Amino acid sequence: MSDAVTRLKAVNAKIGGRARLVAVSKTFEADEIVPVLEAGQRIFGENRVQEAQGKWPGLRARFEGIELHLIGPLQSNKAAEAVALFDVIQTIDRPKIAEAIAKEMAKQGKPLKCFVQVNTGREPQKAGVMPEDVDGFLKSCPLAVAGLMCIPPAEDDPQPHFKMLKDMATRHGLTELSMGMSGDFETALEEGATYVRVGSAIFGSRPKITG
Ligand SMILES: *Cc1c(COP(=O)(O)O)cnc(C)c1O
Repeated sequence: MSDAVTRLKAVNAKIGGRARLVAVSKTFEADEIVPVLEAGQRIFGENRVQEAQGKWPGLRARFEGIELHLIGPLQSNKAAEAVALFDVIQTIDRPKIAEAIAKEMAKQGKPLKCFVQVNTGREPQKAGVMPEDVDGFLKSCPLAVAGLMCIPPAEDDPQPHFKMLKDMATRHGLTELSMGMSGDFETALEEGATYVRVGSAIFGSRPKITG
């Protein structure tokens, strides 16, 4: 068994069916992803449209039922490619992006599941809608939003961030919550995550800069 498959099984055991696992395969090559697909994992996350384009059409040709999530920031000039390639977009965070994605989904006849990313830590360098702007953003959003996503600040206790996201989703009647990564997915599960996004705990460590 590959190391990644051993680690996948351990992560799945910890999740215990409480949420769906998005295996974050950014920076890893197709041949490193194949054993994880062979082990039955079908939901994957990538943070760059171009990188995903280089790997996933070939993998989709070999494996059925793949569900690919975009978990990185999106530019509106990449909306057409993103809608064509991905099944779920987790990083809607600006009206311009929401409009571009809505337009492309209609044009391509491909409705995707969409999440709004919330900047729960109000970090200036991080993507996401500021917490106080979420109500207004959701009201004017042209997409059928399924849920909310967040990436807590690395140095913070993640629990209050997960709780904030859960409370916001509940207030808006949204059922999906994408929260929790390798270091904190068990906390996220306790706070009600429906998707956890786990990369290095499955695939191993990445070079530091991943965008
Ligand atoms: C890279 C990434 C992850 C996975 O991070 P790990 O710590 O390797 O599990 C999860 N979510 C997002 C948005 C990411 O960019």
